[in-house]
Amino acid sequence: ESPVAVLCSGGDAPGMNAFLRAVVRLGLNRHHVPVLGIRDGYRGLVRAAKLANVDSESLVRLKQEITNNPGKRGLIDSQQSIIQMDHASVSGIMGKGGTILGSARCLDFHKREVRDSVVKLLKDLGVRALVVVGGDGSLTGARLLAEESDLRIIGVPATIDNDLQFTEMALGVDTAVHTLVWAVDHFIDTARSHRRVMVLETMGRESGDLARMAALASGAEMVITPEIGALTAEKMAAYAEEIEGAMTRGRGHAIVLIAEGVKFDPPQTRNGAYVLRDAFQNYFEREGAPFQDLEVRPSVLGHLQRGGHATPGDCILAARFAEEAWKSILNHDNENGITALQHNKVTIVPFGCEDMPERAETSSAMDRLHDDLASW
Ligand code: ATP
Repeated sequence: ESPVAVLCSGGDAPGMNAFLRAVVRLGLNRHHVPVLGIRDGYRGLVRAAKLANVDSESLVRLKQEITNNPGKRGLIDSQQSIIQMDHASVSGIMGKGGTILGSARCLDFHKREVRDSVVKLLKDLGVRALVVVGGDGSLTGARLLAEESDLRIIGVPATIDNDLQFTEMALGVDTAVHTLVWAVDHFIDTARSHRRVMVLETMGRESGDLARMAALASGAEMVITPEIGALTAEKMAAYAEEIEGAMTRGRGHAIVLIAEGVKFDPPQTRNGAYVLRDAFQNYFEREGAPFQDLEVRPSVLGHLQRGGHATPGDCILAARFAEEAWKSILNHDNENGITALQHNKVTIVPFGCEDMPERAETSSAMDRLHDDLASW
């Protein structure tokens, strides 16, 4: 049986390991197809392709290893870029954050000739399909491979940013939201005890989805996302006024989530949490204001959000994505695409058809819901 290869690329996300476990076990147990794990994302493939180019013997050895010992565990090339995955190689990894295969960014992959060398390697090795697990950039690389060759390519969305428009959820999002709820819970203790305003900056790149989901799940009083447009001094003052109003009505604290992608007018170089802190603090300290001693503390949560034990939700989604990926690989219509969750069903979205207008509607509906739930 010609093998299927799998790699993780770009930023790591919880759920990647659960996916690897599922894709390997389904391959071996249900479909009887061996699976090759590629280490360090596209970089591992590029490394192996370079080696095969300068040392044709290494390619022959690699091919023999794959043909003679299908499914036998072990590193099978001298640079340790390609691993035959067996049942045990994915034991005990399900909930572990990160990825056992390693992930990387690979600038070389932007070059057509480099991608061509990778296609050649995969074809020479008789690989029947490549599964790419990663975020926006990684899936763009996968789409290019699909367009430029006749290889079967399946993408699997994994990024805590939830910035992919074609899927309701990417792997890692549920875990990151869970972590943010945990963080908010911790910050609330201090905010309550000291009557403080805490401004917490979340990840999410250009998207506010992670912040708004975390706000809905944690009950944070306020959430500010890039989708509402650039923040002017007037807008920030209006937010501060809202907080002041709530304090006047007897509220003792406020948790404000701000997504990292929020822009300012005029533009700012500092993290949004710090810009907002200064704007709020200035507002509260103005002459004659009722809460001049109200303190505002910023915190940038950073990579804390990317790691940690994957939630059951992410592990289940990973298994469902793996099943759909296999369905597509074994399907004879040769369609390449990305696994996606749409209307709570797992499906394959062909490359190039990644728009899902309902996503924007869902986001604004979530914003309204949060506004009403947190009205204070
Ligand atoms: P995350 O959202 O977690 O950052 P990502 O997959 O978007 O993950 P990127 O750094 O954007 O992370 O991309 C990962 C890798 O995918 C890049 O280092 C590169 O190898 C490949 N890649 C990204 N964009 C392209 C592109 N336009 N053409 C070819 N390859 C690309």
